[in-house]
Amino acid sequence: MKDPASPVVRVHSGAVVIGGGPAGLMAAEMLAERGVAVSLYDAMPSPGRKFLLAGKGGLNLTHSEALGSFIPRYGARAGLFQSLLAEFGPNDLRHWARELGIDTFVGSSGRVFPEGMKSAPLLRAWLRRLKSMGVAINARHYWRGWSEAGRLRFHSPAGMVEVEAPAVVLALGGASWPRLGSDGSWVDLLAGRGVAAAPIRPANCGFDLGWSHRFAGRFAGQRLETVELSFNGVTVRGEVTLTETGIEGGAVYALSAGLRDAIAESGIAMATLDLMPDWPEARVLEALSRPRGSRSLSTFLKRVLPLSPPALGLLRELLPRDVMDNPVLLAAEIKALPLPLLQTRPLAEAISTAGGIRFEDLDEHLMLKTLPGVFVAGEMLDWEAPTGGYLLTGSFATGRRAGLGAAEWLAAAGEGISPSSCR
Ligand SMILES: Cc1cc2nc3c(=O)[nH]c(=O)nc-3n(C[C@H](O)[C@H](O)[C@H](O)COP(=O)(O)OP(=O)(O)OC[C@H]3O[C@@H](n4cnc5c(N)ncnc54)[C@H](O)[C@@H]3O)c2cc1C
Repeated sequence: MKDPASPVVRVHSGAVVIGGGPAGLMAAEMLAERGVAVSLYDAMPSPGRKFLLAGKGGLNLTHSEALGSFIPRYGARAGLFQSLLAEFGPNDLRHWARELGIDTFVGSSGRVFPEGMKSAPLLRAWLRRLKSMGVAINARHYWRGWSEAGRLRFHSPAGMVEVEAPAVVLALGGASWPRLGSDGSWVDLLAGRGVAAAPIRPANCGFDLGWSHRFAGRFAGQRLETVELSFNGVTVRGEVTLTETGIEGGAVYALSAGLRDAIAESGIAMATLDLMPDWPEARVLEALSRPRGSRSLSTFLKRVLPLSPPALGLLRELLPRDVMDNPVLLAAEIKALPLPLLQTRPLAEAISTAGGIRFEDLDEHLMLKTLPGVFVAGEMLDWEAPTGGYLLTGSFATGRRAGLGAAEWLAAAGEGISPSSCR
């Protein structure tokens, strides 16, 4: 009789993919397409939880801008993404979605969305396709590293499971939104095998300023529409949302990498906000210089300038009374209001994660140089990009390359391509 404490051992002759987000599912598809038997393991009750959440506010699959503008979005990793996107770029992604029966369209901002905006129909069609290709999905299997014998260890509802396979793709995501499955526990597991990740940090995140209770109570959740946020010579036009403790939103995320790094270096990042980007300062000053009469400052400002209540509230929160009463100083502040950012919001709240497995530790197929047969894909790699579809595009492209790399590795080893492989 089997000792209840001893693990169940499964031996796969094909590939194991751990992590069923966009990167892992794409790796599984590439492997299966090349005839490799694939078993995918995921910690959650079903794959693609973060992908589904991404579709809540409209799934921004990729971006329609030319590759010349698209590639630099990957910052320090642009060179690498140039080659990844040459193999599977934004148009390939749209074509791939169409083949799944999901048409895409370009929104007014140039961002690309699936018809209907949601992730669920795309994910459903994708999982159907993977199933028809023979990919076996093992949900509720939480990866815990390697056993002494070198097997992959999983915690499952049936107890400990140990898995042997000649190739594995790790696609475990970053460390934001841990309740959706990616909790970053792989950092320690890989460190234990001598692979040190670059420090994990929040990306596309909000920031704390420390508002007064009065201001937070009144304005948290309200948006400053069409403002310009600037930092370090870069200006982004978009929206900024006021939160309980600070700011978040599209314009903030676009500058968040530089802001985060500046805070880490000097303890503070001073961004500036143009509350009326379509009005030159001279026009603002001219409006503020009109006679105020007996009107209160609030009534006067509301009458002469098209400032929203949260914008007016922000000026009052941040500026001393003598500046508010001085048209020259106030006009200058409305055009460049200093916002002292004190810290990033916690990693768990961020849209994505910076840091991770360094490309220097991988070969060109995204295989770990020190762990042959172990490939890495998606957000757990050390790259970051702003929102706008670049994160998913990068996850798909790296998942594809890792999957193809694992298939080649198995073919070279003469393994994996057998219809009777254990699943
Ligand atoms: C609110 C929100 C909105 C977003 N919107 C967009 C958007 O519109 N456009 C865009 O481009 N990007 C968006 N993103 C980012 C995008 O969703 C991610 O970059 C992308 O999902 C990363 O893919 P991945 O496959 O690398 O990781 P993930 O999608 O995180 O998948 C990793 C998988 O690994 C599993 N896993 C983790 N650890 C273990 C373990 N130890 N054992 C077993 N399984 C494990 C997880 O359960 C998960 O299924 C958004 C993110 C958030 C949070």
